[in-house]
Amino acid sequence: MEQQKQRVSEGMVSENILKRWETRGVSRRDFMKFCSAMTATLALPMTMMSRVAEAIEADNRPPVIWMEFQGCTGDSEAFLRSNQPTAAQIILDYLSVDYHETIMAAAGHQAEAAKMATFEKYKGKYIAIVEGSIPAAEGGIYCTVAGNSALNIAREICGNAAATIAVGSCASFGGIPAAAPNPTGAISVSQAVPGATVMNLPGCPLNATNLTAAIVHFLTFGKLPATDSLGRPKFAYGKRIHDNCERRAHFDAGQYAEGFGDAGHRQGWCLYKLGCKGPETFHNCPTVRYNEGTSWPVQAGHGCIGCSEPQFWDTMSPFYNRLPNVPGFGVEASADKIGLGIAAATAVAFGAHGVASALRKGDDVGSEQVKKED
Ligand code: SF4
Repeated sequence: MEQQKQRVSEGMVSENILKRWETRGVSRRDFMKFCSAMTATLALPMTMMSRVAEAIEADNRPPVIWMEFQGCTGDSEAFLRSNQPTAAQIILDYLSVDYHETIMAAAGHQAEAAKMATFEKYKGKYIAIVEGSIPAAEGGIYCTVAGNSALNIAREICGNAAATIAVGSCASFGGIPAAAPNPTGAISVSQAVPGATVMNLPGCPLNATNLTAAIVHFLTFGKLPATDSLGRPKFAYGKRIHDNCERRAHFDAGQYAEGFGDAGHRQGWCLYKLGCKGPETFHNCPTVRYNEGTSWPVQAGHGCIGCSEPQFWDTMSPFYNRLPNVPGFGVEASADKIGLGIAAATAVAFGAHGVASALRKGDDVGSEQVKKED
């Protein structure tokens, strides 16, 4: 049965493409797994898989200039350490990352020359990726690279890019450097370069699967995915964490951990009373997860801290205080409310199933038809 499913999905992608990836050391099974996971993450119908495969294979891939400003490099780490689904091998090796301070062999003047060569040659065609916030106080002196301020660099590079992707909460919304009292005047990329086309991928760190999917979308359709009012792609930030959380049934049943390590906590009950911000946070952490889809904070026993929301360090703290006025809390008081809560959770769970299973069970490629959201 599994072999049959693999044959069905392989039939969606040209034999030549599969063979070429095999010669590059990527088995056809891994390549199909990658394409199906990307298609599912983007909430595209599986019939789009062949187009995704062709786009990744095409020769006209845009170069990437990855800039690191006021951040901790956690987003680069998250992307480079991810194996699922061979993101580094498929995207980094075949997308031309012409400038990335952390991973490039060149340094100093050589590195700057590489960046400017790409800038001049591909003006208006390259993808700019920004990690870290941009300090704007006192003319931007708090972050300089090669004698130039992050503010000036961002304006020049992002202002002339085909598209800019702000990775992580610092680049997206200012993040921790922008927390009160924000001594460096840290701002987001879209604030620093108001005219640029910027898509935000907040999270501490970003989820590598979402960055890969956004790049795949750009390669496939020539534009970034549809975004919400905060510039976040809907495929990744369209649903509340609370609505896809595996502990949601316990929330609806009024079963809460009261302290770390207590009986409820050990049994996987809801972490709301321990400060979980999942009811007010939009991200696909529960379905995509981190570390090859292994786990995410709530599964590991810690409440969500709302890191994909603007100014989370100020607005979501104290992190261990419970959110006020969450609808449905204390639902034991009303059986009707319990019923409504469970019905809503079940509907969302069905919607998320395709994404979750495609990511966690690569063997099932071709067996899921994921509804397009947009
Ligand atoms: S409050 Fe947190 S732990 Fe509880 S169901 Fe919502 S997201 Fe999950």
